[in-house]
Formats: sequence, structure tokens, C-alpha cells
Amino acid sequence: MPFINPYNFVRPTRKPMPRLQGTTWERWQGRSGQLTCRLTNETPLLVPSGGSAAGAKEFYRLGNQLAIPGTSLKGAFRCVAETISGACSPFGKNGATDQVFGRCDNAEKLCPCCRLFGFMGNTVLRGRVCITDALLEDPSFRPTAPTVYLERIGGPKTTHTAFYCDENNQPRGRKFYWHSPEILTANEIRRSRRAAVEGGETLRPLVGSTPFVFHVRYNGLSDDELGLLLWTLFPGEEKRHKLGHGKGVGLGTIRVEPVEWQDQSAEQRYDQFEATAPSAPVTELLATVKRQFVRSRASQLGVPDADDLFLLNDDALADLGAILTPRTFKYLVQYPSYDWFKALSQKKLPTIADTLKGIGLPDRF
Ligand SMILES: [Zn+2]
Repeated sequence: MPFINPYNFVRPTRKPMPRLQGTTWERWQGRSGQLTCRLTNETPLLVPSGGSAAGAKEFYRLGNQLAIPGTSLKGAFRCVAETISGACSPFGKNGATDQVFGRCDNAEKLCPCCRLFGFMGNTVLRGRVCITDALLEDPSFRPTAPTVYLERIGGPKTTHTAFYCDENNQPRGRKFYWHSPEILTANEIRRSRRAAVEGGETLRPLVGSTPFVFHVRYNGLSDDELGLLLWTLFPGEEKRHKLGHGKGVGLGTIRVEPVEWQDQSAEQRYDQFEATAPSAPVTELLATVKRQFVRSRASQLGVPDADDLFLLNDDALADLGAILTPRTFKYLVQYPSYDWFKALSQKKLPTIADTLKGIGLPDRF
């Protein structure tokens, strides 16, 4: 019976967005504002608090309220923004030009993500995007966070080059996890306590759908940078982000929606909408800026314009669009076992496109 590995790799873009001089946060120009966003988990979610390794992994709290640290959100969003823009990787090699494993080292020539989210190199530039902690939308809500036991996961290490590298031994791209109801459901992750004793984990994830609210503040962004930020936060109605612990076993599928938007430059232009229909302009204004970004990205890539960013003819955008979209697979989405790795250590992972077509899927035994 074939199976689908829980993660795959998004190929690099054919043309990264331009590298530009870093601007300091203090330089007020371009667009500034604040987005209020609602985040709702659609599968169990665990954003763990630090704490000791022993005992159950508990959800992060601020005071006695469940919360999601802004740094966790920023990490998840930055990966998406890096993929869309062909930015550097904060875990990459200094100054390397490779798109996936290179890292900016010169403030005169920064990728869009270092410019947006911050850069530490020959100089330190604060990011011009700040993401607050996410708090429960309804503070009186008492979410359910039962104890669950996860078996030890036989997932491959980054040294498993057959998965991480292509035929030429080059990194395949950025790692993302599939969203699928076939991975596991809340009930299925409640394995026996023995699983935890045998090297697994004890977790207390939120199991019910729980709305949180957070804010994204930005300063001095160009239209392209704001467009990149908006596509990152809101990649589309049917697309989802992954957050927190246990992404490969079905945890952490989240939906992010805009609730309110105050944009300095946009407000001046669209004041009249604001006065008549307070809820309509948010989506309308978002669509306008997002539309403009697609046009601009299409021209950078040298491909025909499209209605949706993920429909542009680019490997990175096609792969990312596919893996951010939850889907029902014919086969189970699960990690191969240790025995599988031992027996098939050279077996390659099919690409995202081939996985969708069911081509070259590995077999369980
Ligand atoms: Zn960079």
C-alpha cells in the first residue's frame, strides 16, 4: 500500500524578488498600518511553552491565559514569505548565493524578508513588520486540551539525503507539511500511555477549534512589500498555514483571516468607503493590493499575469499553493518506519506535483 510522506519540498522560484538596500525602521516612507487577524485552528494545535523536556508538553500561556507567541507566528509566516519572494534563509550559509540555503550578509543588498522581518549581519536592522502575541478572542472561553500520547516518530533526519536532495545532491527546496484530514484526527492521536513510555511524547494540544486574535503592525513598506505581506498572511480562501508542534502528525493546521485593517496610505484614498460600509473595505482593499502584487511579481518573473498569485507560472508558487491547500488523499499520510529507511535508504521522495498525481509514491511494507 503506498503512503504519502508528511512533508515535501517547494522548489525555488525561477526569479527571486530584487535584493535592495536595507532601510531603517525610523525612515518613515511608504505604507504603514495595522492588520487585525483572527487565527483559528482546524486540527489540534500545540504551541508549547518552553519549560523542561520531561513531562507533558503544555500549551504556551501569558499569565494564566492560553496564547501564541508572536515569534512563533513570525517564524511560520516568514517561511511562506521567503518561498513566495525567493528570499534568503535565516538558517542558510552567510553570503551564499543559493536561494534556499544562502543567507544575506550585506545590508546594501537585502532580500525582501530580511528587509521586512529584520537582518543581523554587518549591521543590525530591525524588521518593519511586528507581529504581536495571539490571545484568545473570547478570554472567557475554556478550550479543551486533553492529554494525548504520541508514538515515537520514525521521521528521517536532515542527513537523509535521499529525501532532502535531488539527483545532483542539491537541496530540493523549502520544507513544508501537507494539510490533510487523512493524517490523523484528534481521536487518533490519543494513543496509549505506553506509546509515551516507549520514547514517544505526552502532549496537551487544543483539540477544539479555538479563535485567537493577533495584530500585525508595519512601517514604511513599499507596495510590493505590503503585497508580499498580505499574500503571506492570507494566501487564499482555501489555503492554510501550519503552526507549532507535531506538524507531521496532523497538528497545527490554522486558518488566518483579516478582521480589521488600518492602512495609512490606503485610508486616505478610500475614506469614502470607510464611512459607508465599515466591514466591506477590508476585503476590497486587501484584494486591490494583492492584485497589484501579482501583476508586479508576474512581470519580475517574466510570465503572464493571472488572477491568483499561485496560478503564476513558477515552480515555487505552484508547489507552495498545492501544499498549503488541505486535501483528501487516497492514501495515509505518515512517516516511513525505521525499517523502511533501513531497507530503502536511497529511495527518493516524489515531487509535490507527482505526489498529487500519485506517481512514484513509496510503498509501505
Ligand atoms: Zn535575506
